[in-house]
Amino acid sequence: MARIAVGGFMHETNCFVPGVTDFEYFAEHRDRPPLCRGDEIFDWLPNAGMALSGFLDAVDDEHELVPLIWTSGGAGALVSRDAFERCSAELVGALSQRMPVDAVYLDLHGACTSEEFEDGESELLRRVRSAVGNDIPIVVSHDYHANVTPETAELCDALCGYHTYPHIDRPGAGARAAKALETILRRGRPTFKAIRKIPFLIPLTFQCTMIEPSQSIVMASKAGEAGDVSTSDVLTLAYLAGFPPSDQYWCGPSVVCHGYDHDAVEMAADRLEKLIEAHEADFAGVELTPDEAVREAMQLAKGASKPVVIADTQDNPGAGGTCDTTGLLAALVENDAVGAVIGIMCDPDAAARAHEAGENAEIEIDLGGKSGIDGDAPYSGKFTVAKLGNGKFHCTGPYQGGRDMDLGPMALLRIGGVSIVTASKRAQAGDQEMFRHLNIEPSQQKILALKSSVHFRAHFQPIAEEVLVALAPGGHISDPRRYAYKKLRPGIRLTPLGPEWAG
Ligand SMILES: [Zn+2]
Repeated sequence: MARIAVGGFMHETNCFVPGVTDFEYFAEHRDRPPLCRGDEIFDWLPNAGMALSGFLDAVDDEHELVPLIWTSGGAGALVSRDAFERCSAELVGALSQRMPVDAVYLDLHGACTSEEFEDGESELLRRVRSAVGNDIPIVVSHDYHANVTPETAELCDALCGYHTYPHIDRPGAGARAAKALETILRRGRPTFKAIRKIPFLIPLTFQCTMIEPSQSIVMASKAGEAGDVSTSDVLTLAYLAGFPPSDQYWCGPSVVCHGYDHDAVEMAADRLEKLIEAHEADFAGVELTPDEAVREAMQLAKGASKPVVIADTQDNPGAGGTCDTTGLLAALVENDAVGAVIGIMCDPDAAARAHEAGENAEIEIDLGGKSGIDGDAPYSGKFTVAKLGNGKFHCTGPYQGGRDMDLGPMALLRIGGVSIVTASKRAQAGDQEMFRHLNIEPSQQKILALKSSVHFRAHFQPIAEEVLVALAPGGHISDPRRYAYKKLRPGIRLTPLGPEWAG
């Protein structure tokens, strides 16, 4: 029996969108649970589809769990100094008060940048390490989009990454972390660690594990980690694809390995690194302008029995997009795409106006486009309020399923033949229930425009005739060559086979 401290602090920082992510945003119940303290973790996290959910489910009942705090700020602008300090202080404070513990598990993202710290995770891990001392194992799970630093690999004893993008296996990563931690309790801490940084960035759209080459790379990382845990020389082997919008020195894909034999660890890391580098030319795909995407979708929709999906990838809130840009909406209306639905459009003012006016009313408003994104503006016009909702519903898809959402007042607005699913909080369009909440049956639509890069594929690809990717102005710039980086490491290629960053 061991006393295991468990907690989490997650943020995926897009350093190029305006503003900061404040403490209130971490604390709020949105498309994921609110900040949980102590035993609240046991109320909110089981079956919530997070890595900690999987850890709680998989860890042996004989252990005593010591709940710290768990919080996720999703993806967005720099974490404010205040939010970083308050979340870290609560987590490390709870840990210090409940010492001694035998081990620590933390559910982290791995691309957190605060106003003060370029690499939030290693700063947090340093504080956790200094609270528990040098002899206690620390096991972490990381998002597939982690930008792992050598400090993080050094400060932890095992690192488990998600295997899928769309992230439908977060609990699986937590379960593997539980097994790694139990192995460490039996065998002792792994003596050897290796990290490899891949010399190019991969745009998010091309990181999807439902297609090659990511599918094969993840398979190889799984194979490298497999084996009898009581004797295997490799404890954990992770491939993390990286998050290009984080302006960090160590931004980009990584391979991280922990284990009990020097040669085995180095060889596993080398093998995976070589495989990724051999596939550099294969990370590619087609991205269209909003007009091209809408016209092609309208053409495809003519003979289709299922909706054509357009991914509004640059306004993906899961990559820090503001979830309110209007470029694709404008292209749908101006091309008269009758029967198209776009979502989620985050505009609390518009949702409030719709609720004041009531269903079937007409309102004249400036919709979306209020976040200061380059090349974006509100879409002004007369909208019909087709349906209202309170924004509270239960998700059923493989990506966000099992979670209760609270997106604040919602409204279905209609202009021309185009409908807009409007909400009061940002959320990635990853679950069909977001549409059903406003009486829209996704499979019955002609065109579905989704503010998402890849996660939507888990629930929407099975009902899609075809998936197109559009590049309307947004806070998540798909092509890393267009980011004004300041802190990357010189020499890294900005895209696969692309130009080197000169500094
Ligand atoms: Zn991710």
